[in-house]
Amino acid sequence: MVVTLENVPRGKPAPAAYLEAARRLGAAPARCLAVDDADDGNAAALALACKPSPSATAASSRPPPPTPRELSVPRNPDDQLARPQSVLAVFAHPDDAELWAGGTLALHAQHAPVHIAVPLHDPVRDAEAQAGAAVLGAALHQLPELTPTAIRALLIELTPHVVITHPVHDTHTAHRRTAEAVLEALPEAKIETGRPRRLYTCDTYNSLTLIGQVTPTVMVDVTATFATKMQALHCHKSQPIDQHFGPMAEDLARLWGRRSGADFAEAFTALPVLGRVPGAAHL
Ligand SMILES: [Zn+2]
Repeated sequence: MVVTLENVPRGKPAPAAYLEAARRLGAAPARCLAVDDADDGNAAALALACKPSPSATAASSRPPPPTPRELSVPRNPDDQLARPQSVLAVFAHPDDAELWAGGTLALHAQHAPVHIAVPLHDPVRDAEAQAGAAVLGAALHQLPELTPTAIRALLIELTPHVVITHPVHDTHTAHRRTAEAVLEALPEAKIETGRPRRLYTCDTYNSLTLIGQVTPTVMVDVTATFATKMQALHCHKSQPIDQHFGPMAEDLARLWGRRSGADFAEAFTALPVLGRVPGAAHL
């Protein structure tokens, strides 16, 4: 008998997995012994009144798990400091991923699947998008249209841990519509799959939206991948990269870098997912 995160609404330290296992065994939780290799698992067992494995607890050099009283506010490590396990960026134009999140996407692509969804444009720009995504190390999904239905299907197929899209009040109409389509698609996908855990909006032209300056909740140090971002941006040869987008991308990356103590950074703003925002300023 196997119970995984797929079978329960919440992962550890919430006790749902142990509770489900006990239910399937037909045993009272208090009569169960939980063997776990992690503190959050022991905490989950304690929250349920299972006995955590003495050997697992003794083997850990970390502090003892919190008591059930301390767990009265449920929290999920996925919502906190965990690095993204997968990322989906949904953008309006073939070069948006590179412009607004290229350094961050390249960074996460080093340890997790990164997907970019953009609508089809014309053969030239579509080929540029493919070249740019390849440089970033991301999988590209070119959809006929970024409708809420299409985005919902993609969210359910990919179950991304983290989703990134445009600012809701972006000055560009196509950016706004894309953000609205993501927000419309997201609740059903979240309820059906439990993902995404976190949703962020990216930067925009000179960091100015219709309601003022972008006010990020997180700045990602992209010093290590800034060259990759610029290389990917330069795949969009049909666009004014050298004269306009390239310098703007560098200005913004230096600005957010200055503000966060890095050479180059990208800025993101967390949005609530079904009423929840990440517990930490972390992408
Ligand atoms: Zn755009």
